[in-house]
Amino acid sequence: MAVGIAAIKTESTPRKICWPNVVYLLGCPLFAITLVPYCLYTQGFDWRIWLFTLLFASSTSLSITGGYHRLFAHRSYSAKGWVRFFFLLVGAASFQGSVLKWGSDHRRHHRYVDTDKDPYNIKQGFFYAHIGWLLIEDDLQFKDQFAKDLLNDKMVYFQHHYYLPLALLTGIGFPMLVGYFLGSILSGFAIGAALRLIFTNHSTFFINSLCHMVGKQPYSDDHSARDSSLMAFFAFGEGYHNFHHQFQSDYRNGIRWFDWDPTKWVVNGLSYLGSASGLKKTSQATIIKAQLLMDEKRLIREGVPAETLHPFRIKVEEAGKRWKILREDYLVMKIEMKEKSQVKLKAMRLEIKRSQREFKTAWQLWLAYARHARTVVRA
Ligand SMILES: [Zn+2]
Ligand SMILES: [Zn+2]
Repeated sequence: MAVGIAAIKTESTPRKICWPNVVYLLGCPLFAITLVPYCLYTQGFDWRIWLFTLLFASSTSLSITGGYHRLFAHRSYSAKGWVRFFFLLVGAASFQGSVLKWGSDHRRHHRYVDTDKDPYNIKQGFFYAHIGWLLIEDDLQFKDQFAKDLLNDKMVYFQHHYYLPLALLTGIGFPMLVGYFLGSILSGFAIGAALRLIFTNHSTFFINSLCHMVGKQPYSDDHSARDSSLMAFFAFGEGYHNFHHQFQSDYRNGIRWFDWDPTKWVVNGLSYLGSASGLKKTSQATIIKAQLLMDEKRLIREGVPAETLHPFRIKVEEAGKRWKILREDYLVMKIEMKEKSQVKLKAMRLEIKRSQREFKTAWQLWLAYARHARTVVRA
């Protein structure tokens, strides 16, 4: 696997080094390594600046994951003006570029994942996908090629147009101002800006690199994306990347209630307050179907005869279909009947519950048989 700037190359025209990014990406660790110990040595440990940094780092990261990524790039939910404004303003403090550029690059990543058109193509190595792609100018064929809906969004365009002053003000000026009020402008810069930016940036970068190399692929192996709960912990839930690539319009990345996905919880909270709506969610039946197909693919590869799996698969699929139809019928009836026939609606709800149980039993049967088949094949 390629490592180092020398290895950066693409199939198309040679790309020049992007010096502003090189200076920025080297400058942050350089400032942090020298100035943070200096501040600690000369001023001692001031918990207030560390608490501020923790809160500010969390807000910037959440503006990237919940704003840049799930709201603007994927439109997995809609949000009120103040939420969009907050994400655009605080997201600028992450120095990851404007939403217009970030979102357009990201959509290209999903569309052309693992190919030369993928801006952070993992096939070019860990270093390239992590940070190398930022050290060189954009491929000419994609330079200033922005997603139309984002380009037409006035707020998004405003942030793009004034990106640099906005980023400098929010990302560096603001923590320095807080530092000033807490007694040290230098601490504000070293801890609240330089150190924070390293954390915020690399937690995003690791999703592009590590989450395309290490982890599980429960939903599909047609792409390199992988689920990693460790990365989810550091990246505010974004580590469930295999699920995300398979169901990119879902506002969640960690789908089980206990999956560490603070971004999902923030969106849920905003929805509860009435500031977010239209949260897109993939149905459980569709998710399990993807898991089943992936599981079946693996079992056949491991040597389990396809025909023995067939009856179990049919059972799950049929139960899933039945459950889906009943739920759709129920929603239609609910609108048509309103409060007229609560008894009938209640009976339907019970029917749906029963068919959901049947579907889950069929899925458990599949899992049990898959386990059994694996033991037999390995014996
Ligand atoms: Zn990805
Ligand atoms: Zn995405």
